[in-house]
Amino acid sequence: MSQSRQINVSKTDVPIIAIVALAIVFAAGLFVVGFDQGHIFSVAFGEQAFEDLYIHELTHDMRHAAGFPCH
Ligand SMILES: [Zn+2]
Repeated sequence: MSQSRQINVSKTDVPIIAIVALAIVFAAGLFVVGFDQGHIFSVAFGEQAFEDLYIHELTHDMRHAAGFPCH
């Protein structure tokens, strides 16, 4: 007497485009939180953005808590 057995293999397939999109979001977020010294706002506000440092002031405590050197 023969027996048939069924084996279910579950494969989760993450699309490569999702990994690339998340990597870009991560890199942009890391730059904003850790390294921006007015570069992003300089696109709109020019040289004044490097003196105002809005994003730097916004993320300053988080930078120090995370160990990023900023000054
Ligand atoms: Zn600082």
